[in-house]
Amino acid sequence: MSMNFYILTLFPEMVVNGLNTSIIGRAADAGLLQIEAVNIRDYSANKHQKVDDYPYGGGAGMLMQAQPVYDAWRSVVERIGKKPRCVYATPQGRTFTQQDAKDFAKEEDLILLCGHYEGIDERVLEEIVTDYRSIGDYVLTGGELPAMVMVDAVSRMVPGVLGNEESGSSESFEGNLLEYPQYSRPEEWNGRKVPPVLLSGHHKNIERWRRQQSILLTGRRRPDLLEKAELTEEEWNWLKEAELRDVSG
Ligand code: SAM
Repeated sequence: MSMNFYILTLFPEMVVNGLNTSIIGRAADAGLLQIEAVNIRDYSANKHQKVDDYPYGGGAGMLMQAQPVYDAWRSVVERIGKKPRCVYATPQGRTFTQQDAKDFAKEEDLILLCGHYEGIDERVLEEIVTDYRSIGDYVLTGGELPAMVMVDAVSRMVPGVLGNEESGSSESFEGNLLEYPQYSRPEEWNGRKVPPVLLSGHHKNIERWRRQQSILLTGRRRPDLLEKAELTEEEWNWLKEAELRDVSG
């Protein structure tokens, strides 16, 4: 079964071109994903295909009008005969997470709505949007890059999209830990050696080392995540000792 994405946007070529390469492009070619950009401008009732206007009450910039956005959404809904979740990419949403990627990947159909200019008339958002998501605390010119970010992250969680070699199960954010550092050939590069345990062939030791490195790295770079990670008492104690060793050099 494939997952179908419908991206409502004023810049369809941007999202289509951005998502047709590498792993996501291959998965689409293999029929695991269907990514369709719906051009909101095609649904403008205005004879000049205008889709924006001044905000009531004044203020800078233009606002996308409700009618073309609604009709673009309705064209998808009528075509597929159901109302899928509709995610509005907006800095006013809560931050999109790996857990969202997993949850959205369970849907058969997903609509992503991209705003532009100063955003979109609130009334159509109230009518069609089920989820508001931001990709971070900064403001972009449009929702196209955020939609692409979300389609990419969600697609990776669709069964079959990642091959075995690219499995997503031991990656960063699993269990609220970042992934351990990784090394490839050669064994020594620029005077830097691969940690000997990784060359030992001793799987249990390798696994333990990787888990410890994950914990250490998360503590250093993302202490907010580590607070939510489930560590054993032994692991907490090990971390405390490792941090003390760090401080004392
Ligand atoms: N006036 C809006 C505000 O202050 O909240 C910002 C509008 S922004 C310039 C234009 C569009 O870009 C938004 O409608 C949204 O779709 C998208 N956008 C901008 N930053 C984003 C972010 N951090 N995450 C998700 N979407 C974003």
